[in-house]
Amino acid sequence: MYRTNTCGELNISNVGQKVTLAGWVQRSRDLGGMTFVDLRDRYGITQLAFNMEVNASLCEKARKLGREYVVQATGTVTERASKNNKIPTGEIEIIVDELNVLNAAKVPPFTIEDQSDGGDDLRMKYRYLDIRRNPVRRNLELRHRMAMLVRNYLSSLEFLEIETPFLIKSTPEGARDFVVPSRMNPGEFYALPQSPQQYKQLLMVAGMDRYFQIVRCFRDEDLRADRQPEFTQIDCEMSFVEQEDVLQTFEGLAKHLFKEEKHLEFGDFPRITWHDAMRLYGSDKPDIRFGMQFVELNDVVKGCGFSLFDNAELVVGICAEGCAEYTRKQLDALTDFVKRPQVGAGGMVYVKYNSDGSFKSSVDKFYTQEQLKQVAEKFGAKPGDLMLILCGPAMKTRKQLNELRLEMGNQLGLRNPNVYAPLWVIDFPLLEWDEETQRFYAMHHPFTAPKPEDEALLDDPSRWGDIRANAYDIVMNGVEVGGGSIRIHDRELQNKMFHTLGFTDEKAAEQFGFLMDAFTYGAPPHAGLAFGFDRLCSLFGGADSIRDFIAFPKNNSGRDVMSGSPSPIAQDQLDELMIDVRPIANK
Ligand code: ASP
Repeated sequence: MYRTNTCGELNISNVGQKVTLAGWVQRSRDLGGMTFVDLRDRYGITQLAFNMEVNASLCEKARKLGREYVVQATGTVTERASKNNKIPTGEIEIIVDELNVLNAAKVPPFTIEDQSDGGDDLRMKYRYLDIRRNPVRRNLELRHRMAMLVRNYLSSLEFLEIETPFLIKSTPEGARDFVVPSRMNPGEFYALPQSPQQYKQLLMVAGMDRYFQIVRCFRDEDLRADRQPEFTQIDCEMSFVEQEDVLQTFEGLAKHLFKEEKHLEFGDFPRITWHDAMRLYGSDKPDIRFGMQFVELNDVVKGCGFSLFDNAELVVGICAEGCAEYTRKQLDALTDFVKRPQVGAGGMVYVKYNSDGSFKSSVDKFYTQEQLKQVAEKFGAKPGDLMLILCGPAMKTRKQLNELRLEMGNQLGLRNPNVYAPLWVIDFPLLEWDEETQRFYAMHHPFTAPKPEDEALLDDPSRWGDIRANAYDIVMNGVEVGGGSIRIHDRELQNKMFHTLGFTDEKAAEQFGFLMDAFTYGAPPHAGLAFGFDRLCSLFGGADSIRDFIAFPKNNSGRDVMSGSPSPIAQDQLDELMIDVRPIANK
């Protein structure tokens, strides 16, 4: 037997027992007469003790152990003279009488400690060493527990976990596909799934009325911060349900996770329409851990001779409670913040509601004290508050103000990662206009059903932008953790949708023919949703980055720096696949 116990479980109740442990050397201390070695495994650290007087050669052997050596030690659990109450095994040590070096180790390129001295790149290159560190290990443990909770919960509700293929037909759904050449069918390609969307809908046609899968998805997108080309979803689909059933079911799942993992209980999650979310927060994923809702000011600020406001489509602001004392420097910094290219505002107007009841603003030239009072009333502001105002085209300005609101939330400490504020955003628009290609795209995906009461608008292209979808997102702390929709199960409506999206009959048949065909064989009404599992784990872990919750993530350029992928392949492999990678000029 390699070990009788792990390095995390022995305590005072085990004193006197003969045990064998195996693990990695965290560190060793040579105190002359005694040598101590901290032995580490996944479960914890146990101190090994070697006494020069009792067994000199064994003690010599222990002294020679390097960091991260793999060793096996047999000895007796003994009460320690000087106890360490910071670790569960801190009251005991093992007086070793047999020590086996199972493997030597090179000195690791960074310290295997909670606060490592390794930078991001180094840690990723040696990820297997990084995972030995507590914070990373704990993240993976959290991920495992979350996956188990999801499986058990959904399984208890009759959901079946069914695997769907990874080598599928390329049917661009939004992002770019990763493609895989087929050797047996030269010149033809599979795609890796962006999501199992069509297969899960086919499973509904197949009568598997509750499906889920914790599944890898692949999207060849330009990597924005904290996106991974391969990521994991909790992918779900249900038949014979309305939106309410779906929201209840997955709100139930979210509550279950909060309860089991975080010991948090929630009432009904608030719901907000997409339109209200945009109007009140300038975002379809509002962070409602704090208020600071938008206040629209057109009716109180226009017509006073301040041309910037007079000419703007929308004047809108937020009220930061108790910030009237902000200094010139702080206000300038906020102005610089909104003027950054990432935010893109032209400037910012402030109105201070001084504690003496007077007002001080950056537009004092244009507005009387009385007029500023009206502005303050509109905000419901109190003396001591600071109002921050932006103006311009409505949607653009809302998005800019969203950034400012989040920044103020950060500055005022209102975005505590240990506080959770989930909500549903519902009634998303069905279609989204794209300026560049001058056409509408499905905001969610082409299988999403319009609201029945808006369906007639599909016949009027001038109203396409107004059609609402039966689509919903689950949002937590300003992060979209999941989304889904009621699906179109009627072939005619689906055809109409494809036409709206600019598909000819032939193109639709070529790309989605199998799904369309399936719908002629009795497709039940169905709906579904997918959670971003990596993101959900990072949120539960109180961290911003999803990378820390993936065992072997890619870096920001989509590279696995540890294995060195992607990489060129050999010419004979290319030949076999009939792929010619020469630059076009040389062909
Ligand atoms: N397939 C969708 C997605 O990946 C989720 C869904 O509609 O169920 O976002």
